[in-house]
Amino acid sequence: MTSAFHGLGVAGTRPVAIGAAFVLARDLVPSPDEIAPALVDTELRRLDSALACARQHLESVRSQIPASTPVHIAEFIDAHLLMMTDSALVDATRELITQNCINASWALQLQRDTLVEIFDQMDDAYLRTRRDDVEHVVRQIQVFLNGEPSADTLAAADLHGRVVVADDLTPADAIMLRNRGVAAFVTEHGGPMSHTAILARSLDIPTVMGVHNATHYLRHGELLVINAETGTVLAEADSGILMYYRSRLASADARRSALRRLVREPSVSLDGTPVILLANLELPEDVTAACANGAAGVGLYRTEFLYMNREGLPDEEEHLATYLQIVRGLDGVPLTIRTLDLGADKPFHGLGSDAPAHNNPALGLRAIRLCLKEPSLFMPQLRAILRASAEGPIRLMIPMISSLSEVDQVLTIISQTRRAMRRDGLPFDPLMPIGGMIEVPAAALVAGALARRLDFLSIGTNDLVQYTLAIDRTDDAVSYLYDPLHPAVLRLIKWTIDAAAESRTRVSMCGEMAGDPRYTALLLGLGLRELSMQPGSLLEVKERVRGCDIAALEHEVRGIMDHLDDISSQHLLDRLAEVSLAT
Ligand code: PEP
Ligand code: MG
Repeated sequence: MTSAFHGLGVAGTRPVAIGAAFVLARDLVPSPDEIAPALVDTELRRLDSALACARQHLESVRSQIPASTPVHIAEFIDAHLLMMTDSALVDATRELITQNCINASWALQLQRDTLVEIFDQMDDAYLRTRRDDVEHVVRQIQVFLNGEPSADTLAAADLHGRVVVADDLTPADAIMLRNRGVAAFVTEHGGPMSHTAILARSLDIPTVMGVHNATHYLRHGELLVINAETGTVLAEADSGILMYYRSRLASADARRSALRRLVREPSVSLDGTPVILLANLELPEDVTAACANGAAGVGLYRTEFLYMNREGLPDEEEHLATYLQIVRGLDGVPLTIRTLDLGADKPFHGLGSDAPAHNNPALGLRAIRLCLKEPSLFMPQLRAILRASAEGPIRLMIPMISSLSEVDQVLTIISQTRRAMRRDGLPFDPLMPIGGMIEVPAAALVAGALARRLDFLSIGTNDLVQYTLAIDRTDDAVSYLYDPLHPAVLRLIKWTIDAAAESRTRVSMCGEMAGDPRYTALLLGLGLRELSMQPGSLLEVKERVRGCDIAALEHEVRGIMDHLDDISSQHLLDRLAEVSLAT
C-alpha cells in the first residue's frame, strides 16, 4: 500500500523524481543489551566481520583518492585503518563481550566511552583532537554492525539515481554530492530558504525538507516518488501512481527543451524594456550552466563555498586563480564577487580558534562583521578580487550590511589596499564597482545613504525576509510564516528601489525571490530591472519578462502598494496575473 509523507518542497526545474532510497543512519548509539553466554561467539564473529567490512570500505575509499588530493587526507585514512587493528579498541571490546556477556554494539560503545574519556583528559590540544578519530572509527564499525549506511559512507557510495534520505544535510554535504547523479534529497530538518535548500535548487535536485522521522520510516533501497512541488514523498507507490509520475517526468523534460528556444532571445518586456537577467554561482563550475542558460553576467558569486570541505584557509593566490577561472569562463560579461559570508548556517572552522558556540549565529559574527574582525580572513580575498579586476569586469559586493560605518570601514580598507598595491606595482581596475547587499531591515531603511556611498545595491530577500519577519530560514517549524509577499517585506523592497533610483544607483535582487517566476511581474512592477538567480531559473523568468507590459504592471503595483495591508498574497498575484494576461 502506498504511504505518503509530507514536508517542505524545494524545486528547481525538476520538481519530480523517482528513485531507490539511500537512507543515512542517524548517529548510532546502541542501548545496553545483555546476551546469553551461548551467543558470545556469535557476537565476536559479528564484531570481526564488521571490522573487516569497515577496513575494506576505508581501503576502497583510500584507493579512490585522486592524486591531486593533499597527502594528509590519505594519512587520516591510514590512521583510521591502524586504529581498527589497535588492541586498545579491538581486544578491549572483545574482552567486554566475553566477560560481561553483552552484544558487540554495546561493548564497542563502552570501549569508545573509555577511550574518549582518556583523550578528553589529555593536556595536549593535538592529542585531544585524536578523540575525534576514535569517534569516527567507532561510528564506521557501528554502521557495519547495524547494517545501514552512514554519512561517512556517503562519500564513497554509488548514488546515481538514488534518493538520499538523511536527518539533515549541511551545505558542505550538498557540495560534496554535486555531480553524483543524486535523484532527490529528503531530510528530516531544514527550511526551504536554508543554504542547503538553495544549493539543492541550484543543483536542480528535487528536495523535500522537514519530513519528520524520515530516516526511521523510509527503508534503505525502497522505491520512492518525490514531489518537491507539493513537498510529498511516496513510498511503495502502486503502478498507477508510478505511471502518473513517470509521465510528469517526461512532460517536465519536454518543457525544459521547449524553454531552450529562449536562450538566444533578448530579455525584453512586451513594451520594449530591457531586463538584465544574471546568474547566482556557488562554485566556479556553475559558470557552464550560467552561460548555457544565457545569463548576462553573474549577479552573485557566493565565495564562502571556497572555505568548505577542506582544512585551512584559501590564500590570496588560490582566491585569484578561482576568480580568474570564472572571469575567463564568462567571456566578457560581469562577475559580481560577494566577499565571504561565513557564519550562521554556513559554519566553518578554518581560523583554528576555539570559538564558542553562539546562541543566535544568524545575528552574530557573520559575513562582513567577521571580515572586519578578522583581517587575516578578509585581506587575501580583497587583494585577490582587486587583482582579478585587472583581468575582466568584476564588481565587489559586501554582504550583511547593517550600518553605514561598516561600509565606511570597508571603503577605507579598499582605498588603503589599492594604495599598497599601486606601490607594489600590482595592477587593478581603479573603477571596479563596489556594492552592498540589502539583507537587513536596517540596511533597507538607510538605503538612500548606502546608495550615495556605493556603486550598486542588491536586495538579498532570503535574509531580508528572515530578519524582517523574525523567521529562522533554516527552521522548518516556522517556515509557514516565511512570506516574501508580507507587506513589511514588500515595503522594504520598494523603499530600497526608490532610494536607489533617487541617487541613480543601480539596484538588483539576488535572493531566491528573484528566480521565482511567480514573482517576476511583481518585481518588474516594483521597478526592478536586474534580477540574479540560479542558472536553472533564467529561461523561465525570461519567458515571463517577455510576456510583461511593464508600464501596466507599474501602474497596478502602485495601486496595490497603497492598499497593501488589505490585500492577500494570492489576491496580489492574481491581480498582476490579470494585468499580464490582458496585455
Ligand atoms: C540573500 O540573503 O538573499 C542572499 C542572496 O544571500 P544568502 O542566501 O547567501 O544568504
Ligand atoms: Mg544572505
